[in-house]
Amino acid sequence: MEKKTGKTKRSIGLILIASLMGILIVVCGITGFILLKENTALKDKILRMDQLSDTQKTQLENRRSDLSKLEEEYRSYTDVAGQVVKTKEEFFDLASRLEKKIRNGESMVKIAYLTFDDGPYILSEKFLDVLEEYDVPATFFSLMKCAETGYAEQNGIYDRIYRRIIENGHTLGNHTASHKLGAEGIYQSLEVFMNDLLRNREFIYDRYGYTTTVMRFPGGTGTAYRIPEVKQAVIKEGYAYVDWNAMTGDGKSTLPPEEFAANVLNNTQGKDILVVLMHDYSRNTLIALPDIIEGLQKQGYIFLPLFHDSVTCISE
Ligand SMILES: [Zn+2]
Repeated sequence: MEKKTGKTKRSIGLILIASLMGILIVVCGITGFILLKENTALKDKILRMDQLSDTQKTQLENRRSDLSKLEEEYRSYTDVAGQVVKTKEEFFDLASRLEKKIRNGESMVKIAYLTFDDGPYILSEKFLDVLEEYDVPATFFSLMKCAETGYAEQNGIYDRIYRRIIENGHTLGNHTASHKLGAEGIYQSLEVFMNDLLRNREFIYDRYGYTTTVMRFPGGTGTAYRIPEVKQAVIKEGYAYVDWNAMTGDGKSTLPPEEFAANVLNNTQGKDILVVLMHDYSRNTLIALPDIIEGLQKQGYIFLPLFHDSVTCISE
């Protein structure tokens, strides 16, 4: 009995050990499987990270290349103002030489300078549209209206006009700040006149960084004669002054547009250099402008914006 009991105990012990071993094997198998699975996942992860890293590297390289391109571009743009001034100087130098040739009768080309006085007005934008449509440069002899408060100033309309004049390659000329004529006006003394003129110059420069070098006397030199020293005084301030030798007549009359156009186109004989006086407040001049441009083109004129060394003292 004791033997049997001993055998039974051993058998139970063996079964227990075998069971434990079985459990151990199963646990080890499961753990191994889990570890193997995790290892594979980790490997995948590492592989993905490598791939991401490659993509990132490419992206980084692209960004670097973009950045250096931008830096290059930025460097070429840092001196935009200088480049614009240089190009303008070259352009006006060529125009000046052409003007001399025309005056000496050495060129068949004729120049027309379209000039608009007393602006800006709200209507000036429409004038700029026509000039843009025909790709024709002109000159705007402006007053200091922007400094006045009002609808156009409050809504930035004058600001927009000034900027368009400058940015579209037209010449912005000085026509004094107030344009005030009469006994109490700008021609009462040299000092009053120069203060008024320079006030407008400072206003344009402070607001738009643009230096005016061409001016027109309100009423022309024929009116400015009241102050004999005034011409020398404006020259001393770096200005060239310009009158006109053709006009629509819009300053004094309200003729129909076709008559404004005819006033210009029928009065060009013998004028190889034409300076046309107009006002950008005149609706009829605005309507006549395309005919004036096309008519002058047919007569062989090219259009230029006035510049410091261009024609001075020209008058009818
Ligand atoms: Zn005027």
